[in-house]
Amino acid sequence: MRVTLLGTGDTTGTPTVGCDCDTCEAARERGVERTRFSVHVENERTGEALLVDFSPDFRYQFLRESVPLPDAAIITHIHFDHLDGLGNVFRVLDELDVYAANETDPQTGESVAETVANDYDYLDPITVVPTTPLESVRICGFDVTLVPVDHPPLICYGLAIEDPETGAKLSLSGDTSYAVPDRSREVLAEPDLLLADAIVPAALCDAHPIGGRHENDDGVARTFGTKHMTREGALALADELNATRTRLVHLAHFYPEAEAFEEPLALDGEIYTL
Ligand SMILES: [Zn+2]
Ligand SMILES: [Zn+2]
Ligand SMILES: [Zn+2]
Repeated sequence: MRVTLLGTGDTTGTPTVGCDCDTCEAARERGVERTRFSVHVENERTGEALLVDFSPDFRYQFLRESVPLPDAAIITHIHFDHLDGLGNVFRVLDELDVYAANETDPQTGESVAETVANDYDYLDPITVVPTTPLESVRICGFDVTLVPVDHPPLICYGLAIEDPETGAKLSLSGDTSYAVPDRSREVLAEPDLLLADAIVPAALCDAHPIGGRHENDDGVARTFGTKHMTREGALALADELNATRTRLVHLAHFYPEAEAFEEPLALDGEIYTL
């Protein structure tokens, strides 16, 4: 399993357009970036490629990394930074199965699968495959399981992707607070590589209108607002899942410059072979 981090940023990315903060300026100077979220997973045994989420930066990411176009894809939730790149497949792919959860979201009255199918009904190449969370489905030779996470007000999913032949396992937290349900944690546990949402360090919770949540014993918030884990929350989750290796993703340019390029914060273009 070959994992390429196509996009490791939050919804505005780093550098953010029009921003001259120290972190965005440092990223420009270093020639590094964090575009909007997407992960490319190749099955070296079958020669197939699976894409997790359609970043608005889809075209640029595939040009930059020179990875093969996907044979199938998964959409974790319907936020702009994860879905709105899907239109890029128009006149690029002849056919593509797009897997998405089949549970109805009380907020929208639709499942992720239904919203994708409705929003992109003009897009003939795609076939949306409604998928039951917490049940493994075979995609590109991998056993893939969508797991419910906590990203209010929308439903959202993390993922476990396992190679049944080699035992290699990639887990993704998805966009989530620290309150990942126990059943989901069981599926995500013991990954060779965990990609965990860590939008900002906990110290920045003071700047959020509603602050942080899910404090640890030292009072450090593991959730920023309601939707995302702090760096500290993501690292705690990694520890609890007993991840062999962890990269923090979905990172905002609000990380202070001195912390923004520290380990284990990911940058676009990182490649892992599991
Ligand atoms: Zn900035
Ligand atoms: Zn989101
Ligand atoms: Zn997001």
